[in-house]
Amino acid sequence: MSSSFTSSLKVQNESQKKKVAIIGGGLSGLACAKYLSDAGHEPIVYEARDVLGGKVSAWQDEDGDWIETGLHIFFGAYPNMMNMFAELNIHDRLQWKIHQMIFAMQELPGEFTTFDFIPGIPAPFNFGLAILMNQKMLTLAEKIQTAPPLLPMLIEGQSFIDAQDELSVTDFMRKYGMPERINEEVFIAMAKALDFIDPDKLSMTVVLTAMNRFLNESNGLQMAFLDGNQPDRLCEPMKQHIEARGGKVITNAPIEKIVTKEDGTIDHLLMRSGEKITADEYISAMPVDIVKRMTPKNWQNMPYFRQFDELEGIPVINLHMWFDKKLKAVDHLCFSRSPLLSVYADMSVTCKEYEDPDKSMLELVFAPCSPIAGGNTNWIAKSDEEIIDATMGELARLFPTEIANDEKWPATKSQGPNGTAKLIKYSVVKVPRSVYAAIPGRNKYRPSQTTPIPHFTMAGDWTSQKFLGSMEGAVLGGKLAAEVVANRALGNADKPIKEIQQDIMEKAAAHVAA
Ligand code: FAD
Repeated sequence: MSSSFTSSLKVQNESQKKKVAIIGGGLSGLACAKYLSDAGHEPIVYEARDVLGGKVSAWQDEDGDWIETGLHIFFGAYPNMMNMFAELNIHDRLQWKIHQMIFAMQELPGEFTTFDFIPGIPAPFNFGLAILMNQKMLTLAEKIQTAPPLLPMLIEGQSFIDAQDELSVTDFMRKYGMPERINEEVFIAMAKALDFIDPDKLSMTVVLTAMNRFLNESNGLQMAFLDGNQPDRLCEPMKQHIEARGGKVITNAPIEKIVTKEDGTIDHLLMRSGEKITADEYISAMPVDIVKRMTPKNWQNMPYFRQFDELEGIPVINLHMWFDKKLKAVDHLCFSRSPLLSVYADMSVTCKEYEDPDKSMLELVFAPCSPIAGGNTNWIAKSDEEIIDATMGELARLFPTEIANDEKWPATKSQGPNGTAKLIKYSVVKVPRSVYAAIPGRNKYRPSQTTPIPHFTMAGDWTSQKFLGSMEGAVLGGKLAAEVVANRALGNADKPIKEIQQDIMEKAAAHVAA
């Protein structure tokens, strides 16, 4: 399949071809390099770690089991990601699940309730029908009270969505008189799944953006699991695609410093090894917290870079728990209703490479895990044993017939009592700074890919694009950065820098004065 990159941005002759140094081999840096190579340029990706993928990276433990940075779900409403899978000719690696959403029941341990999307019914009616048909989570009166505040999202679209960014989900619910139970029944699970934080911390724009994207397409909410680990099954074909077109992807290549000339333009990138990298164009595809640390001194007072102070990554923990027997299998993602857990899946059922006919492996997202994300406990600072112990407690509460939190666990790893499953192994992956915290009022500070520095462009899931901090956002952010460079290479004027807020202009001016 031909590239979805705008054909008018392709190199016309050799003199337009640019050598582009990209810092970061996560999905955004790789997508950026993919589209630059499609356009005829020579991208070189420098990834600090020995594995590609960043937040989708994974590695094998001593038993050969895959440990993932995060449990990842692909949605039908990920157009840029879906185009990329098709262009890489790997779309058969997505394992699409039945079109439904599954929630663990709060009052009925071990029971689930579903929202079913009927094939053939167009969006958004399929969503409305799925909600109406579910009898277990909300009463008819609650459903009727919930709909009107959400209607402007469909009618007015993006301007209404953007205007809600100053409100948390909880503020929005109260302002528009939504029943409190919607929070407990739906929004807690949704907020933790979207941004690993509680609804009183999450911007309502995030929920509305997700709903709007999902509701515009009939299969928008349909979910897929990749059929195996992301570095091999997704990052590797991206690397091969880039290298087949003359680019390079280099791991174990941390960039230490962006070295500037006196006029503020980039002189070279200094690698930790001491090597100097020079290129025609430079792109950062690093997370915001690292970009802040790497911003050269003579850029720090510029308003574009000062807005990064308003953004920071949210902590999250990803757990893998292997049990000695098969749990009641659900071949799908489950939304937990636990105060400690977000989404989870039995990967021994949902993912081809991790299939096991005899044992279950639950992959669970533990959230919120610090006070900035909600809750009172700074779980990210706790030991792995404490985190697993708390999770076992939650699992025993949610699935009492299948899992018991044996008090001797984990010292003896004794047999689960009464035929319950025994935990035989676990792994805890802490991500102290993951996607940017989408607390109220952040959207306006997400920067454009165009920067004020000549020949320097910004990529990453956190840059300004219409999707959230997500895999789709990372791919789109990378593609938009590639567009900036490809457009400039043809001699066209740059897309303007996104407007910078007045408060940031004032802070930047105060910095200069100090
Ligand atoms: P990153 O993945 O952070 O990549 C940045 C890269 O830059 C890293 O590889 C890093 O090593 C590299 N780097 C940093 N500094 C340097 C340096 N100095 N030199 C060289 N390289 C450097 N999204 C979804 O869409 N669906 C999901 O279900 C989902 N679940 C998630 C679950 C968890 C637990 C987590 C943590 C995230 C999840 N996400 C999900 C979000 C998704 O993983 C991210 O939005 C996306 O992968 C970010 O990609 P990125 O390329 O922008 O950043």
